[in-house]
Amino acid sequence: MPEKRQKLIPDEFIPEIRSRVITLDNQDYLLQNDTMYTFYERSMGELSPFFLAIKNEKKILGCKCSKCGIVRVPPMMTHCPDCEFAPTGLVEVSQVGKMNTTPPITYFATSLFLDKAPFGRGRVILEGADTALSVMLYTTTGILVPGLIKKGTEVKIIFRDERVGQISDIYCVPTSELTPEQVTKKGLQESELNWAKPKEPQFPKPTDNDTANFKQCLKEMQALAVKMSQSKRARKAIEGWRRNITVRTKAGEFAIYINNGDFRIEEKKLSSPDFIMACEDPKTLLDGLMYKGAITDSVIMKRLWISKNLEFNTIFKLDRLARFLVMEQKEKTAK
Ligand SMILES: [Zn+2]
Repeated sequence: MPEKRQKLIPDEFIPEIRSRVITLDNQDYLLQNDTMYTFYERSMGELSPFFLAIKNEKKILGCKCSKCGIVRVPPMMTHCPDCEFAPTGLVEVSQVGKMNTTPPITYFATSLFLDKAPFGRGRVILEGADTALSVMLYTTTGILVPGLIKKGTEVKIIFRDERVGQISDIYCVPTSELTPEQVTKKGLQESELNWAKPKEPQFPKPTDNDTANFKQCLKEMQALAVKMSQSKRARKAIEGWRRNITVRTKAGEFAIYINNGDFRIEEKKLSSPDFIMACEDPKTLLDGLMYKGAITDSVIMKRLWISKNLEFNTIFKLDRLARFLVMEQKEKTAK
C-alpha cells in the first residue's frame, strides 16, 4: 500500500489554461482560468516532539504526569490538569494496543483523503498509555470490510516509509495479520508488510445449475460490455483508467479489461491481473453492471471481495459506468 509522494495541490486539482464564454443579457463575456497562491507553514508547537519522534525515530511518545503517573498519548499536556498542574515528562509507549471502539469505515472520502480510502478511523489505547490515540486503520487481507477490526481488536502501529511528521505517517493493522517478530519489532514500516498475499474467499464446488448460471451471466455481461464501450457517456466514466481484472466465481473465472473508455469481458485466465475480484455468484456483478444495486454496496456488504483495498476506486468507477449507460439510454428514449 505504499503511497506516492504528492504535491500539496494534487495535479488533478490544478485547472488547465483555458477560457470560456458566458452570456449575460445577450452580451458575451470571456472568463479566463487564473491563479492565486497562498501557501503557509504550520507550526506543530508543543506537539513537535511527538511528530518528530514519528518522523525520525519511529517512536510513539506520550506525556507522563510526575504526580499521578497518568500517561496521555499524544502528549498534549506539559502540565497535568488533574494534579494542580504538576509538570509532565515525555515517555515512549508501546506500538501495540487495543481498539477502544469499533472503527467506522470511510469508503467515500472527501477529496483530501481520496487516495487513502477506504480506511477505518478509530481510537487505540497503546500499552503503557492511559488515553486513546486516534488512528487510521487498514488490513493486509484485501478490502477493508466491517467486522474485520472491532472494539478490543489488538492492532499495531505501522510507519509509512516516507514520513513528513504528520499523523497520517502512521496507521494500524490487526496484529493477527503479522508474524510474532513483526508484532514485537519497533518501528515496523509498511514496506515490511506482505500486501501481496491477501486472503481470498474460497467457494464450494459448483453444481450444474451454478455452471449454467455462470455461462448465462457471462453472456449478459459481455453484451453489456459491448454497449458500454459504444456509449459515449459510459466511456467517460472510465476515461484514462486502465485495469486488467480477474473475476473468480463459484463456477469459473473471467477477465475484465478496462482500457481508457473501452470495457471488455472475456472468459480468460490472466497471469498477472492488477487485482482480483471474487464473488460466489456472478449475478452480483451482473446486477451491478445493469445498475440494479451498486457494486460498491456489494463490496461493503461482503458479497464481492477485492484483493486490493485501494481498488475500491475502480469499483466506484464501475458503478458510474453502469449509471452513465442507463442515463444515456434514458436520454435516447426521451428523444
Ligand atoms: Zn496528574
